[in-house]
Amino acid sequence: MTAPLTTLDTLGRPMRDLRISVTDRCNFRCGYCMPKEVFGPDHAFLPRTDVLTFQEIERVVRAAVAVGVRKVRLTGGEPLVRRNLEELVAALSGIEGIDDLTLTTNASLLAGKAQALADAGLHRLTVSLDALDDETFMRMNDVGFPVARVLDGIAAAEVAGLGPIKINTVIRRGINEHAIDQLADHFRGSGHSIRFIEFMDVGHSNGWRLDDVVPAAEVVATINARWPLEPVDADYRGEVAQRYRYRDGAGEIGVITSVTQPFCGDCTRARLSADGSLYTCLFATAGHDLRDLLRSGVDETSLTDALRVIWTGRSDRYSELRTLDTVDLPKVEMSFIGG
Ligand code: SAM
Ligand code: SF4
Ligand code: SF4
Repeated sequence: MTAPLTTLDTLGRPMRDLRISVTDRCNFRCGYCMPKEVFGPDHAFLPRTDVLTFQEIERVVRAAVAVGVRKVRLTGGEPLVRRNLEELVAALSGIEGIDDLTLTTNASLLAGKAQALADAGLHRLTVSLDALDDETFMRMNDVGFPVARVLDGIAAAEVAGLGPIKINTVIRRGINEHAIDQLADHFRGSGHSIRFIEFMDVGHSNGWRLDDVVPAAEVVATINARWPLEPVDADYRGEVAQRYRYRDGAGEIGVITSVTQPFCGDCTRARLSADGSLYTCLFATAGHDLRDLLRSGVDETSLTDALRVIWTGRSDRYSELRTLDTVDLPKVEMSFIGG
């Protein structure tokens, strides 16, 4: 049997990763993502009937695997606010061809869910955590959520066998720069690794300013001054984090340099929004609707063909082209498209 042809976009990039936003809702209001002023009590989230069912998501994933996807990440919004998420995990973990099935969560509900997720076949977890002191963390999540419950969630995930865990941290100038050392100290030697993400101009509601971005190089220099680091080679094409290991053997950190050193040339990611549109870039202004197609009774082959057509037409490289003008484009919110 001949191997299937790899589907490449106009810049020669394969489709390898699919991020799925399982809900546009979240119980946090992180200012860089869903600021309270915009996502207030009257905010109109998607009506339930507009959100893809687990069966519909599974069909898209099967088609995406046929096009070349090997990594699937469930995200949102907060994925764990979607009821019975473990049922989706169980369905996806049975699909042959997925090497990595993972989830990004704020961990607020993780302590009660970790075992069910592990039993359903989840491979790994990423937990977002922006500070270790309650004052700063509560200011970042803006709903008064304490750090201790996130740490409880991480502990439950370890017990359930979902470790080692990746910790996502967004550093904002003047707000949580002190968390760089705090978090590095806390997670050194634990087996878990932190990914420091540059604050990005996703969506159009987070009031992004270049001055608020703490460049990844500064994060690395800060940690290196305390705990000497050395670079680690990338494991695979499309690995977005630049990794460093502690010279004393206490583990690794990573930085995601989307603003200061864009990596579009190797970007192999597609995103599925909660209402079933496929986006070929985090900063896209529009997606490709798959929900109507799914609900029109399309067969497997036609769905796969539709994904192939979308991917082969892809030419996105927003971060490489970012200018002060593009920052104001009407981009889709990250909570909707999937972070
Ligand atoms: N609610 C889950 C969580 O927070 O882990 C999953 C969705 S969230 C959109 C996914 C990731 O995107 C989080 O790690 C968050 O820190 C990151 N993120 C959100 N807005 C961002 C921004 N403006 N710049 C950089 N990262 C951002
Ligand atoms: Fe919610 Fe995650 Fe966005 Fe924070 S980053 S508001 S936890 S979706
Ligand atoms: Fe990929 Fe778009 Fe980010 Fe570039 S800007 S790395 S194309 S998601």
